[in-house]
Amino acid sequence: MRRYLIIGSGVAGISAIEAIRKIDQSGEIILVSDDVHGYYSRPGLAYYLTGELAEEHLFPFSKSDFKNLNLHFLHARVVQIKPTEHQVLLNTGKVVRYDRLLIAVGASAAKLRLPGSEHEGVVKLDSLEDARLILRLSRRARTAVVVGGGITALEIVEGLLARGVKTHFLLRGQTYWGNVLDGIESHIVLNKLQEEGVKIHFNTEIESILAKRGKVAGIQTKDGRRLACDLVAYAIGIRPRLDLAESSDLQTNRGILVDNHLRTNVPDIFAAGDVAEVYDPFTGQSVIDSLWGPARDQGNVAGTNMAGISVPYAKPIPFNVTRLAHLTTTIIGTVGKGADKDLVGIARGDSETWRQLPDAIAAQSNFDINRLRILVGQNTLLGAIVMGDQSLSKALHKLIIHQEEIKSIRNQLLQPDAPLANIIADHYIHTSEKYAHSNHQP
Ligand SMILES: Cc1cc2nc3c(=O)[nH]c(=O)nc-3n(C[C@H](O)[C@H](O)[C@H](O)COP(=O)(O)OP(=O)(O)OC[C@H]3O[C@@H](n4cnc5c(N)ncnc54)[C@H](O)[C@@H]3O)c2cc1C
Repeated sequence: MRRYLIIGSGVAGISAIEAIRKIDQSGEIILVSDDVHGYYSRPGLAYYLTGELAEEHLFPFSKSDFKNLNLHFLHARVVQIKPTEHQVLLNTGKVVRYDRLLIAVGASAAKLRLPGSEHEGVVKLDSLEDARLILRLSRRARTAVVVGGGITALEIVEGLLARGVKTHFLLRGQTYWGNVLDGIESHIVLNKLQEEGVKIHFNTEIESILAKRGKVAGIQTKDGRRLACDLVAYAIGIRPRLDLAESSDLQTNRGILVDNHLRTNVPDIFAAGDVAEVYDPFTGQSVIDSLWGPARDQGNVAGTNMAGISVPYAKPIPFNVTRLAHLTTTIIGTVGKGADKDLVGIARGDSETWRQLPDAIAAQSNFDINRLRILVGQNTLLGAIVMGDQSLSKALHKLIIHQEEIKSIRNQLLQPDAPLANIIADHYIHTSEKYAHSNHQP
């Protein structure tokens, strides 16, 4: 009987267990996680903060779902992997043997390294415990300062606003999420935040966090200003949790390096989810994502391979449907480039692929608060951002992930004031018909 050991109770770990159980009903599965809450929706934490989701709705599995998986859960932290012995060491001192091991430990928030960041009232948003802490503190807090970029910083801003906390959002430059959004998109988001009552501070950096009796009392900015607040939240990027891999001679780069079966360089050890760095055929580079869908798919592929059925992982073109300042926003393919002063690496709900835009021309249209930007390559669409009205999201997603030829519409798309929506909709209908005839749905 084979023993599978899964480290991490996130979506990658649980999907791997589901895949293993489909193939191997008798093998022993041990799940080790240091998160007392087990498996829950991390993207859902944003809606939990705003009060749109109750805590119990964060849990995708019922007790009976877990029972059906027939696993043994250990609430503990793995502190060492011993590949030669096929063993892991837990913080409890217990040693657990494995035949196949999956590292699905995710990523953690990059630390804010500033004088005063150890004070009570300095918070991040990685886990359900973090969200509970923000909610607890926001009951007493009157004013908060949020620093960072990407989706998580905005989610914290929106959560605090919804709880009636006056919120200051500090940006190091003039734009928000500058290596994914363009200037107009950033402007739309920041405008909406201002309308909602958020005070935006451009070109502003924190010098230190001030405290009274160990609790946050304010911040001092680099240009010498002081701002009183009771809470400082940061979302300046994430770091894959590499400590276990690095101490056991697994090959790492920004994430744990895996082959196209999600195997590490060490026999019988696999990695999946936010911690894994996988080959991206779209950009020809190895990348990390922090996206729920890819983490689930990687867990599924890793579990299948661990159970003995060989399947390659074909990394899809990443996309995310999210909400930026109450505007539904879909991001697909490559849309931006360069670095963002507010982030180290990528944020949650983000993909390195999005920033690897080769030379491409943007076709764009704005109507009221809706915005559509399409990145046009030589023969195909490379990426798109759809903000607000989502009627074209599905069409663009299909055209981009299937790398549909756009030769017949390329010139039209690049005309000034081109009716982008109509051109894309017509082209999509045309290509969908082709799929219908070939009996192969896109
Ligand atoms: C606030 C927030 C918003 C997000 N928004 C979006 C979004 O809009 N769209 C989107 O697609 N994605 C979003 N994400 C990202 C998405 O949730 C992640 O990509 C996904 O959860 C990654 O799954 P994972 O299984 O790889 O890791 P995780 O879900 O992070 O799970 C890792 C698990 O490993 C455990 N662990 C870590 N180290 C150890 C150890 N040494 N021993 C034992 N256990 C350990 C952790 O406690 C945790 O349970 C968001 C995430 C957050 C936090």
